[in-house]
Amino acid sequence: MEVTAQPGCPGERDGAQGDCMERVYFDHAATTPVRPEVIQAMLPYYSHSWGNPSSLHGEGVAALEGIERARQHVADLLGADSGEIVFTGSGTEADNQALIGAAHALREKGDHVITSAVEHHAIHHTAAHLETLGLRVTYVPVDDTGLVDPDAVREALTDRTILVSIMHANNEIGTIQPIAEIGAICRQRGVLFHSDAVQTVGHVPIDVGHTDIDLLSLSAHKLYGPKGVGALLVRKGVALTSYLHGGGQEQGRRASTENVAGIVGLGEAARLAREEMAQEAAHTTALRDGVIGGILDRVPDVILTGHPARRLPNNASFCVAGVEGEALLLDLDQEGFAVSSGSACTSGVSEPSHVLLSLGLPPDIARGSIRITVGRGNTVEEVDQLLQVLPGVAQRLRDMSPHRPAVAERGHHA
Ligand code: PLP
Repeated sequence: MEVTAQPGCPGERDGAQGDCMERVYFDHAATTPVRPEVIQAMLPYYSHSWGNPSSLHGEGVAALEGIERARQHVADLLGADSGEIVFTGSGTEADNQALIGAAHALREKGDHVITSAVEHHAIHHTAAHLETLGLRVTYVPVDDTGLVDPDAVREALTDRTILVSIMHANNEIGTIQPIAEIGAICRQRGVLFHSDAVQTVGHVPIDVGHTDIDLLSLSAHKLYGPKGVGALLVRKGVALTSYLHGGGQEQGRRASTENVAGIVGLGEAARLAREEMAQEAAHTTALRDGVIGGILDRVPDVILTGHPARRLPNNASFCVAGVEGEALLLDLDQEGFAVSSGSACTSGVSEPSHVLLSLGLPPDIARGSIRITVGRGNTVEEVDQLLQVLPGVAQRLRDMSPHRPAVAERGHHA
């Protein structure tokens, strides 16, 4: 088949034509490129083994075998049993299934849920939905590095608490939460513990066999797998009410015909991550520290957001005083760098995210948020290129800004 139209070059705006310039991708917390090995593993499930895994004939069995191999790879990555893995359509769906499924299954037991102030919207908006159903939700605060205090979780527990949901690591600022301690507190009190580990699975070791985790969400596209597929780990003995109703797929835990190729892609991504995690984390940590050190050195009035040590190996996030994060993002995009900001422009006014505000940052500082998340394919040269360009871009934007708040007195978190 002849391909007549190609997607535009990244960074190309207003229909501009021309060859794609060399681009540097520094937004791995948003999504990761699909690894070629993952694409290769998926292709047969489009071209040959495209049967319905619920069918009893050979075509169906071939598809089912692909799913079950993938389930084993995901379980191995987490230290779980394969029967504890339920494939979902995304990390968001896994989060919804965990919260809504627990709320329904345990409605006789209680009506109180605890989560943190810095969760992803997939948790916050689901928690808000539970409130509309009459449940009570406590949002435990974080300190100025984004950390949840396990004692705050302990104090928030009541006899009516059915679920605690605290993310493993934050997607904006990279802070890694003390989930082992929080899990132990929940286990002691007989309360289910869920962790949104979408940002950590495949990047930070997790062993659910040695941690008190009952439910854990993950998403393939954050670990070099395809978009639109995730999984919820449901430990043995944990009863959840199904979120999707229909056929009996996933042992009755998630109706609808499986995304076979996507699941196979997740399995392959998990297999590779297990083999290469330590090596990849060493590589990204070195790049991350290069970005953090370089930006704090070269750009005045910048603070590192998130915890200085307990942070994702790929996350370098900052607030640059006196600039709008989105403007910085767009200017860097024009320079060939894909980064992200925790401030989104709505109706001409930049709104800092709930995560940045939860750190206690004043809104005018939080508006200057920028997130650089490195990946396995990035190089020291690419970090150097960014460090050459960023100080000038920040200065240009500051010169254009009518007001320039100082952050010097707030000090660095690093
Ligand atoms: N939870 C966290 C912490 C995330 O970072 C994301 C995605 O950015 C999600 C949940 C949602 O995952 P998905 O994009 O697979 O729905």
